[in-house]
Amino acid sequence: MSRATNEQIWKWLDAVPDPEIPVISVVDLGIVRGVAWDADTLEVSVTPTYSGCPATSVIAMDIETALMDRGVEHVRIKTQIAPAWTTDWLSEKGRAKLEDYGISPPNEAGGPEQCPRCKSKEVERISQFGSTPCKAQWRCTDCLEPFDYFKCI
Ligand SMILES: [Zn+2]
Repeated sequence: MSRATNEQIWKWLDAVPDPEIPVISVVDLGIVRGVAWDADTLEVSVTPTYSGCPATSVIAMDIETALMDRGVEHVRIKTQIAPAWTTDWLSEKGRAKLEDYGISPPNEAGGPEQCPRCKSKEVERISQFGSTPCKAQWRCTDCLEPFDYFKCI
């Protein structure tokens, strides 16, 4: 096949969901750092959200599968450790989607800015551990709803 353009590849990657938070794509998450052709092999650079994140190998496989489904025959996933991923790499679109989904997007202060449901600033931490290692459980003291806070840094 003829080589897909980088623009096309980014679009395809933007359809690959994050395995832990399927409402956002791996591109929204900001972990795909670059795509480049090396002869007939497409090299995709991926930065894990944190080293040892159990989702990293799943993500690499999902990206590979998605590209192969679109006819890219040779895919190489390059793990790029530096610079380290930060929550700043999460796209605006990704943040909005997280909030719609009821997950508080990461915040520089290290805790959620507001309740994703009623937008109250009165929130408290219930547990450091949520449903996945990337999330912590918080609760809004106004609407009393618990919610997940995305804490990967
Ligand atoms: Zn609330």
